[in-house]
Amino acid sequence: MKQGEIRHQPRHLINGRWVIGATTGVSTNPSDTREVVAEFARADRNQTEQAIAAAADALPQWSLSTPQRRADALDQVGSELLARKEELGALLAREEGKTLPEAIAEVARAGNIFKFFAGEALRIPGETMASVRPGVQVDITREPVGVVAIIAPWNFPFAIPAWKIAPALAYGNTVVFKPAELVPACGWALAEILSRCGLPAGTFNLIMGSGREVGQTLVEHPRVNAISFTGSVPTGRRILTATAARQAKVQLEMGGKNPLVVLADADLDQAVDCALQGSYFSTGQRCTASSRLIVDAPVHDEFVARLTRRLESLKVGHAMTRGTEMGPVVDGAQLEQNQSYMAIAAHEGAQHVWGGELVERETPGHYMNPALWLAEPHHRIAREEIFGPIACVLRADGYEHALSLANDTPFGLCAGICTTSLKYAMHFRRHAQVGMTMVNLPTAGVDFHVPFGGRKDSSHGSREQGRYAAEFYTTVKTGYMLA
Ligand code: NAD
Repeated sequence: MKQGEIRHQPRHLINGRWVIGATTGVSTNPSDTREVVAEFARADRNQTEQAIAAAADALPQWSLSTPQRRADALDQVGSELLARKEELGALLAREEGKTLPEAIAEVARAGNIFKFFAGEALRIPGETMASVRPGVQVDITREPVGVVAIIAPWNFPFAIPAWKIAPALAYGNTVVFKPAELVPACGWALAEILSRCGLPAGTFNLIMGSGREVGQTLVEHPRVNAISFTGSVPTGRRILTATAARQAKVQLEMGGKNPLVVLADADLDQAVDCALQGSYFSTGQRCTASSRLIVDAPVHDEFVARLTRRLESLKVGHAMTRGTEMGPVVDGAQLEQNQSYMAIAAHEGAQHVWGGELVERETPGHYMNPALWLAEPHHRIAREEIFGPIACVLRADGYEHALSLANDTPFGLCAGICTTSLKYAMHFRRHAQVGMTMVNLPTAGVDFHVPFGGRKDSSHGSREQGRYAAEFYTTVKTGYMLA
């Protein structure tokens, strides 16, 4: 560890108490692998079951808490995140490797999410209906689902937990939160704020450790009523299979292979900006990254030339260094996966345009240049999620062809189009087989107060975020009464 840097020692939060782990693990800084960011507690099955029991025991009290109490708690968390966004952003940049401005913006987003759901706690919807029978009144109310397990990935270690934890608590559920193993200090920092916002003991629990042991225990445990998961498709499918028999409520947000269509009538500079931002920022480690650039033949070569020029000057470096535009890859395993896709692309006959090689900086880190390929639709780099700074360009012959290429994928998270034609923009919004569309905007980068999610292999279950989150975090009760 270098002088002046804080090494965190995150513990679990179980029933309102900080608890050491069955074992310990470490997280390191991907911009400087000599630096240990956290030595964190790792739970076993037994500790995970304790956290679940604490959440189950806290449920009767929290599920009957007043909306005012929930709103006050969430608002306090939101305010603290906003007030500490620089400090927490620095922790996030150190542990995950996104650039400092990106990290600060993520913490601010998490703060805004808590504030949004503080408001939603005061607006829990219900309906009164006239009955078809005389003298009978019908009320439709929403109640909490129960104990919710929240299983998060590493790429948005503040924002993704926030958009799950905040609605879970707003609607009266209790929570067991498991962050990804690469980012325990971020998960702990969020939990530490939650531990001081006035929640009754056991309402919110933090448990760290492996997916195989901690995650699996959460998924299989009969006292866990609902699981909100974000991560890879294979893990999501495993969770769905494991929970089917016991009928737990499950929400899965998984991978993407998001297309950005560039039509011949597009503002080309704007389209290049969208591609650069969407494909490479956050080191391409976003489920909404534009990894397939589908470009109309008349502007294909010019688009590729302009994007390549931008890539040549993109500053790859330490996440904390001012001016860095793309930080390192999150860890050695992901870097290796990215490199293997570079080899696969070459082997399958894709045409290499620029980048992809490992690069050295002053500090030892997982650095690589952003990569651009010209591919065919059947190439694996055009079909599989890589989750790194590697994009490919597919040549399209007009709008209809571009649309069919855009939809030719098992994923369905987000799709974008750059065009000056209202006709094509409107048609694309209607016919792209995804959960989110963008016109003249990057595919990555969404608001915090509207629904987020996809179709096909990308998502399962009801939408996250905005008031649509109520679908997952509540269950509907229909009450009849003779008036
Ligand atoms: P991952 O699937 O490896 O892990 C996600 C979480 O699941 C981690 O906390 C992990 O410990 C846990 N886990 C692993 N095995 C488990 C098991 N058997 N049972 C229960 N939990 C288990 O994903 P990752 O590498 O952390 O994240 C990258 C992936 O996340 C990418 O595929 C990306 O597209 C996806 N992602 C999707 C969205 C979205 O909203 N669609 C957002 C961000 C990331």
